[in-house]
Amino acid sequence: MNTMKKVMLVTGASRGIGAEIALLAARSGYRVGVNYLNSESAAQQVIKRIEQDGGEAVALRADVSKSGEVVTLFEQLDAAFGALDVLVNNAGVLANFRVDTVDERNVVDLFSANVFSVYYCSREAIRRMSTTHGGKGGVIINMSSVASRLGGLGGGAAYAASKGAIDSFNLALAKEVGPEGIRVNAVRPGLIATDMQNIHGGIAKIEQLAETTVPLGRAGSAQEVAQVALWLASDAASYVHGSIVDVAGGR
Ligand code: NAP
Repeated sequence: MNTMKKVMLVTGASRGIGAEIALLAARSGYRVGVNYLNSESAAQQVIKRIEQDGGEAVALRADVSKSGEVVTLFEQLDAAFGALDVLVNNAGVLANFRVDTVDERNVVDLFSANVFSVYYCSREAIRRMSTTHGGKGGVIINMSSVASRLGGLGGGAAYAASKGAIDSFNLALAKEVGPEGIRVNAVRPGLIATDMQNIHGGIAKIEQLAETTVPLGRAGSAQEVAQVALWLASDAASYVHGSIVDVAGGR
């Protein structure tokens, strides 16, 4: 085991933004935990690309909305790579339902995937990284969305509220664990061209929407979000804490 290399866990790294963060992290010298839920072959593709570039990564299946699965996920990462340096709470789902159609299942599922998962993963990371727990410090990055301040697209009230919760959590967690050597920040993407947009008609539709609603006139790429996450993880952002960085083309 190469203990000189830092270790990063990226949740939801089989596709989209998470996959790009994992790929860029490996190229930047991290050993990477690639968490996924359903897309096993996509996660294996991410691992293959990292290994072809001479990097180290391990694919770890876990539903991060389930507390017990998160415990196992972190134990598996411990066994594979040892002490954790950076957690990226990236996994998330988009949903499209009006508030007058809410039932217990759809709203609980959304908040479990987008909010409770962040508590469970942060809990495990803090237990390993906090100087109070004998750790050497670290970094937590939370994936928010501009939906938290714009209200999201149609049917997006629950999604927007879940990301609003992430913005508040980010600030509170920064206060809680900053004195224990853990830097906490969030990335707040706008319209990014990933599969997540299928719920709103796909990437072509989002590109069209971006022409008129985004000051830069286009949707962003997953790589453009990944670059900001890697910067926040790095020592170049050593005094950035409790911040939310918009990656939204001015939207
Ligand atoms: P995506 O392409 O749909 O990918 C979502 C990823 O999350 C997949 O790897 C998926 O894994 C994983 N995932 C979902 N639920 C999970 C769970 N319970 N446990 C473990 N993994 C889970 O989405 P994306 O566009 O890359 O979005 C990534 C993050 O950025 C999300 O938090 C999203 O809210 C945020 N964001 C995206 C945009 C955008 O425009 N795309 C804008 C703002 C914010 P499997 O495929 O293996 O199931």
